[in-house]
Amino acid sequence: MKITKIWLNETNEECTSCGLCESIAPDVFEVPYKMIVKENVDYDNFKNGIKEAADSCPVGVISFEEE
Ligand code: SF4
Repeated sequence: MKITKIWLNETNEECTSCGLCESIAPDVFEVPYKMIVKENVDYDNFKNGIKEAADSCPVGVISFEEE
């Protein structure tokens, strides 16, 4: 399975800008205000960090797609 897409999913909650995702996977996430996903990142190199960040986000707003 390859992670093909990551996005901020604020359907139910909003990013609180806590910075946890960036501290777990700084090569993928940045939190200048709300979380943004860095450009030109090969997500495959950071799979575990991406999954851990998505699981750990206190408001569950990190979504990703695998195929
Ligand atoms: S861990 Fe979740 S709430 Fe915290 S900055 Fe990242 S996306 Fe936002």
